Amino acid sequence: MKKRVFSGARPTGKQHIGNYIGAIQNYVALQDEYECVYCIVDIHALTSLENTERLQDNIYEMMLDWLASGLDPQKSILFVQSDVPEVMELHTLLSMVTPLSWLLRVPTFKEKAKSQPQNVNYGLVGYPVLMTADIILYKAEVVPVGEDQLPHLELAREITRRFNTLFGDTFLEPQAKLTNFPLVLGLNGNQKMSKTYDNHVELAATPDETRKKIMTAVTDPSRQYRSDPGHPNICNVFSLHGYFTPERTGEIETSCRKAGIGCVDCKKILAENINVYLAPLREKRLKLAENPKYIFDVMSDGAQRARNIAKETLLSAKQHMGLITPQI
Ligand code: SF4
Repeated sequence: MKKRVFSGARPTGKQHIGNYIGAIQNYVALQDEYECVYCIVDIHALTSLENTERLQDNIYEMMLDWLASGLDPQKSILFVQSDVPEVMELHTLLSMVTPLSWLLRVPTFKEKAKSQPQNVNYGLVGYPVLMTADIILYKAEVVPVGEDQLPHLELAREITRRFNTLFGDTFLEPQAKLTNFPLVLGLNGNQKMSKTYDNHVELAATPDETRKKIMTAVTDPSRQYRSDPGHPNICNVFSLHGYFTPERTGEIETSCRKAGIGCVDCKKILAENINVYLAPLREKRLKLAENPKYIFDVMSDGAQRARNIAKETLLSAKQHMGLITPQI
């Protein structure tokens, strides 16, 4: 029996190479070793979304990219959070055993409250409770996390333990699988790659769009003239070569340090290699996009499979809490 993994990601629409390197690649790799449950967490997104106009498009495009990248609905359960309403019910039950003080001290809550003072909503405080419900509802034994997310998982484990202590063993306590989720810098070189900063390259971009985007990338700021030696260690184009041109990084590094290669040529090599690397993914995406019904079928089948697990878990939680009316 394979262990079950759960992971969720917000519906951010078309995915970019930062999402791919930072998360999707890992998701795909885990499929062979684990039974994976991957969820697009649309309810979580509502904690900071004031406008939901693009929500459905974003979910669709994201699932399209997941499938094109190699997530396989035959191996994994792929679904949208709100299609399994049991998660909201479990969230409410868990909220009764979670002290408010635990939630108010969460650093991400404090940061969010600062960054969106006009919208410090109830859902924002309860975010970790919903996250816990996501994980334990599907009886996930393992959650892949980066080092920085360990405290979040620890809180989920604390909430789970508290429930089990109060009402008896009901839920599996999820374990962390420390995973390397590399932080990919954007083309401006000083912020995480993100659509918000428009410093990204979409997986679905055309080769020409990719070239144009890469040509805008900031390089070593101290290299003003072609004849200046460069410093690849502070150049994000060089970091991206590490993913897309791994066999030539040594040569590029040496050449850059001696001003043997100019930044324009260096970026051209990177753009071409990104295009070569992503060509099969892009081809698959175009094919998948011809049949939107298939994408919706994947989500609906995933939700059905997820619900089968969820119903069983929720029933058990309610029984343990004494919420089921006895049948005479
Ligand atoms: S040559 Fe390449 S690695 Fe060197 S500074 Fe320019 S873009 Fe960066």
